[in-house]
Amino acid sequence: MFRGEEVWSKVQRSLQNNLSKPSYETWIRPTKFYSYENYILTLIAPNPFSSNYLKKNYSDTIQSLAKELLGQEIKVQFKAIEGETLDKDPSEDRVEIKSSNSSRGNQSSNTAAKPPRVKKTSLNQRYVFNRFVVGPNSRMAHAAAMAVAEAPGREFNPLYICGGVGLGKTHLMQAIGHYRLEIDPTAKVTYVSTETFTNDLILAIRKGEMEAFRNKYRAADLILVDDIQFIEGKEFTQEEFFHTFNALHEVGRQIVLTSDRPPNQISRLQERLVSRFSMGLIADIQTPDLETRMAILQKKAEQERMRLPRDLIQFIAGRFTSNIRELEGAFTRAVAFSSITGLPMNVESVAPMLDPRSQGVDVTPKQVIDKVAEVFDVTVDEICSSSRRRPVSQARQVGMYLMRHGTDLSLPRIGEAFGGKDHTTVIYAIEQVEKKLSTEPEMASQVQRVKDLLQIDSRKRN
Ligand code: ADP
Ligand code: MG
Repeated sequence: MFRGEEVWSKVQRSLQNNLSKPSYETWIRPTKFYSYENYILTLIAPNPFSSNYLKKNYSDTIQSLAKELLGQEIKVQFKAIEGETLDKDPSEDRVEIKSSNSSRGNQSSNTAAKPPRVKKTSLNQRYVFNRFVVGPNSRMAHAAAMAVAEAPGREFNPLYICGGVGLGKTHLMQAIGHYRLEIDPTAKVTYVSTETFTNDLILAIRKGEMEAFRNKYRAADLILVDDIQFIEGKEFTQEEFFHTFNALHEVGRQIVLTSDRPPNQISRLQERLVSRFSMGLIADIQTPDLETRMAILQKKAEQERMRLPRDLIQFIAGRFTSNIRELEGAFTRAVAFSSITGLPMNVESVAPMLDPRSQGVDVTPKQVIDKVAEVFDVTVDEICSSSRRRPVSQARQVGMYLMRHGTDLSLPRIGEAFGGKDHTTVIYAIEQVEKKLSTEPEMASQVQRVKDLLQIDSRKRN
């Protein structure tokens, strides 16, 4: 028996011998095997134009070559990878975090001399159940998540968690993974963002490694696919995901999805996927009430081994109402602020810093870049270049972060101000700085220093 992939590579070889080199290189080489089912050989072209061209000009030839090889009639069809372009090598952004199998929440960052036995996983260590504060807004999603971790593939398959930005979907989803691994350390838990799934797929097609791709995703006992709304309009990824979903679901593997909206509100999502996504349980997370937000801050303070006065917690929780990531950000800023200035953590000293009006010091992009250059001791030209020298890239990231918070420039405009960087680079920079603010005191103090300089500048102007 021939496998479809082999058939295609043999057909390719034979075409290579019979076509002119330019024709072969233009049309045949970039065309990859996708599937062979029910005597239909499906091939993938890099774009719709190639796909049409191949259909018109090569279908017959390919069919008859394949018939010779297989000894029977087949049909060939072509598809294009539409709107699903690979921006970058996905291996670049897959940060594998080493973590022990245990998800004991309160481990501090001081690593012991002898490292524990580690298992490579892409789960964030902090996203465990015991760091998740349950409120009325998330009770049902939390209960469903626990149930799924304890008895995967039974009741709620798939579990579809939906809710707004920064409300804990990724946290809850990864907590399922951690807990499952705690119960069964041999379980194959796969966490993937929808973007990575798409990029992986496209890369697999490019490299002719569809089989490896399928083996990888279909081996999961528990698959966690984050932000499935990004599959919107990606016909090709939808098709492959549909098959992945079915392959897993049929054999009782657990599927968990998150999204910012319910399946039927994702436009340009194939009907059959809407119905698959809705066949288990759809659990939503709402915005947390004040009490829950306070509990979240309280927990965070405990984790950082900090004691915060209750009125300060109430104050911060009262100000950031709709996004827990922002709530955490405010907490982090407050902590950084007090450790830099030496002022006590209380409402009086922290309030001015968290006041949205004082955040938006009215500054121009040029001022931000000038001050950042000054503090990081690099030149403006370097910041706007593509240099990856550490002080330069740090200065650039901080500049992007401050421009985001201090001006009302859009992400693409910020990218432009830094010598034409892509908006995804800007997003990445902002995230990096937010992360480092809580872990790298030096960074926090540099950021503060730039802010101070900007503030002084703007006072002078007023
Ligand atoms: P989403 O995926 O919905 O955008 P995340 O899961 O990334 O949101 O959550 C944003 C941040 O808020 C994370 O740092 C997460 O740990 C924290 N967070 C969200 N919900 C809770 C909660 N209920 N208890 C504790 N922390 C939470
Ligand atoms: Mg998320």
